[in-house]
Order: sequence, then C-alpha cells, then structure tokens
Amino acid sequence: MFDLSPEHREIQAKARELAAAVAPFADEADEYVDVHPKTRELLAESGLARYVVPAQYGGAHEVLDPLTIAVIREALMYSSAHLDSLFGMQGVGSYSLSAGGSEELKQEWLPKVAALEAIAALALTEPDVGSDLRAVSTTMEADGDELVVNGRKSFITNGGAASFYCTLVREGDGWSMVLIPADTPGLSVERGSDLIAPHILGELTFTDVRVPANHRLGVPGKAFSLMLQTLAVFRVTVAASGVGLAQAALDEAKEHALTREQFGKPLIELGAVSQKLAQSWTDVEAARAFVYLAAARAKSDPLANLDLSSMAKVHATEAAAQVVDRSMQTMGRFGLVRGSKIERLYRNARPLRVYEGATEVLLDSLARRLAKGAR
Ligand SMILES: Cc1cc2nc3c(=O)[nH]c(=O)nc-3n(C[C@H](O)[C@H](O)[C@H](O)COP(=O)(O)OP(=O)(O)OC[C@H]3O[C@@H](n4cnc5c(N)ncnc54)[C@H](O)[C@@H]3O)c2cc1C
Repeated sequence: MFDLSPEHREIQAKARELAAAVAPFADEADEYVDVHPKTRELLAESGLARYVVPAQYGGAHEVLDPLTIAVIREALMYSSAHLDSLFGMQGVGSYSLSAGGSEELKQEWLPKVAALEAIAALALTEPDVGSDLRAVSTTMEADGDELVVNGRKSFITNGGAASFYCTLVREGDGWSMVLIPADTPGLSVERGSDLIAPHILGELTFTDVRVPANHRLGVPGKAFSLMLQTLAVFRVTVAASGVGLAQAALDEAKEHALTREQFGKPLIELGAVSQKLAQSWTDVEAARAFVYLAAARAKSDPLANLDLSSMAKVHATEAAAQVVDRSMQTMGRFGLVRGSKIERLYRNARPLRVYEGATEVLLDSLARRLAKGAR
C-alpha cells in the first residue's frame, strides 16, 4: 500500500469532511447544469481550491502537487460529481494562466480562483473538433495592442458560469492560448447539451472579441506546450476521481449484499456475488495504488511522467466503469431504479472515459511512445 504523508492525510481528512457535508444533497447537486450554490459555498469555505493555485497567488503550495489534488478529487468524487468538477476545473481551467500568464493577469485572477470568487474554464473543443485539437478553427490575430478572436467552442465545462475562458486558438501557422474574461463584448454563451450525467456545459461564440495583448498565455504559436503542462499535472487527478467513484459504487453494492437475503442468506454469501465484490475491491485497490504512484511521480517531474499519468487515467476510469457495472448487477432490480445512488454513479462514471483524453486516444499515443522505445 502506497503510504500518504501526514500532510496528505490531513488534506484527505479535510476533503472527506467536505464530501460528507455535501453528501446529503449530492443527488440534487449532481442534477445541476449551473453552479449549485450550497456546494460552491461549502467548497469555498473549505479552502481546498487553494491547492490548485500557486502559493504566490493565494494558493497553498509553491508548486502544485498532483498527489494532493488527486487525494482531494478521490474524496470529493466519492460523494458528488458536481463537487469534484467544481474543484477540479478551478485547476484545469486556470493552469495555463498559472504557467504562462503575465504577472498582472495572474495577480488579477488567480487569488479569486483560489477563493472561488472567480470560476475558471478551459475552452479547447469546437463543434467539429474533439480529440484532434490541431484542427481547431477559432482564430486570433494581433491588432495593435489588442488580440482579436473569432470562432466557436463547444462542450465547455463551466460555460456560462465561468468568469474567464482560457481559450485555444489558431494564430498564423501555430496554436496559441488567450484568456478571455466572460464579460468581454462579442463573447456569447448558450447552454450546452443535456448529458446523461448532468454537467455545467456551454457553447461559446466569439465574434470579433478583443482583449488586451497581455491576455496572451504562453509563447505565441506554442500553446501545445501549455496544454501538455496542464495535462501533466491534472490528467492523473481525473484517474483519482475514477477511484473515488469506484469506491462509492463498491460500498453501495457491499451494503446491499450484506443486508438483502435471497435463498435464506445474505447475497454476499452467494458465490457469484462475493466473487464480484472481491474483484471490485481488487480493482479499486489496484487503481488507487497506481494513481497515487503516478501522481507522486508527476509531482517530481510532471512532463517526464505523463505516460504514467495517461496509463493511470485509462486504468482507473476503465476500472470504475467495470466496478460500477458489477455493483449495479449485484443490486438486481434495485440498481436499475432511476434516482437511486448506484444509478447516479453509473451515469457519472461514463464521461470519465471520454474527457481529458478518451481511453482509445491515450492508448494510441502510449502505443506510439512504446514503439519509440519509451518504458
Ligand atoms: C462532461 C464533459 C465535459 C467536457 N468539458 C470540456 C471542457 O471543459 N473543455 C473542452 O475543451 N472540452 C470539454 N469536453 C470535450 C472533450 O474534451 C471531448 O469530448 C474529447 O476531447 C473527445 O472529443 P469528441 O467527443 O469530439 O470525440 P472524437 O474526437 O470525435 O472521438 C470519438 C471517439 O473516437 C475514438 N478516437 C478519436 N481519436 C482517436 C485516436 N487518435 N485513436 C484512437 N481512437 C480515437 C475514441 O474512442 C473517441 O472516444 C467535455 C466533454 C464532456 C463529455
């Protein structure tokens, strides 16, 4: 068993406390397609969002620690996908600012992100562009002291609720990133699709959106380096969400199997049921151990350990899908009831295998790295 440090354990206890406070209304929060006010208030009060912002700008750690963020996400996802997303996106949505923003811009926004006074978003996907981000068609051009953005972004988490959007654009022959405040003229946001697992989603349109030149993030034409840095810190934390969800599903199934009797004994004493539960337990422990290891490695050198983070994401999110499916089966007809906890977990597990790198996309890039001699 990977040993968490006393500091990590302390943070884990805080995150579990927050998760327990949200648990009584998690089913309501997870139906929200806007920010759930009570969840936001409790997250802000917990101070946990400080862990996704550098200490210099109101955060907790000088350099972000993927293991800390992973431990928090595991605990939050155990209770609510909405809570996990609100927390995680503060980091995913602001990291290109932390890594590539001007001093002035960082001072303006990051302390608000840490205090949850500003909500962050990362806008990469477009109506016709998903995994193949090099095909983005939203453009940016410099015009004197300003940058002008035109195009559309789609399926953007926190769209409509965010205070700013770190946006991937095509600029000349390269790809750049720019921070666009939500109230900038020319930016309009419509509500996004309704998903099987409700999520705050927006569709963004940029029509001659103008921002000052200092809203540029990173080096012109080199946005992929910023995105890689974001993934290197945060991809493994999505894996941790998968572990939290899988643990919740296993606990739900175990409780049911201990209390429901068929053929004169609790379900857990029927061979096929016990096999399923034991297999799920094994899957959860293996996923957790791998996630903690990959997150700890990511802390020491995020980019050098991105392969491991990708593997952990594939492994944990696919394991979560298996565990929640087995758990549902263990609960028989009760697992199929709309509005039951296991049904919510089943729906919440599904997007994990698509966003921040779909399983097949990650396996494809891992295979290419393997072919090139990585190990
Ligand atoms: C809940 C949710 C929240 C999201 N939030 C955001 C957000 O905040 N910001 C943002 O920019 N985007 C966001 N997205 C979009 C998300 O990043 C994309 O869905 C993801 O990149 C995949 O793109 P796609 O859905 O267009 O699938 P496609 O790219 O069309 O791929 C479809 C499928 O084809 C397969 N595939 C694709 N490429 C390859 C390959 N190279 N090798 C092997 N198989 C492949 C995979 O199985 C993949 O699932 C969100 C999506 C969801 C569901």
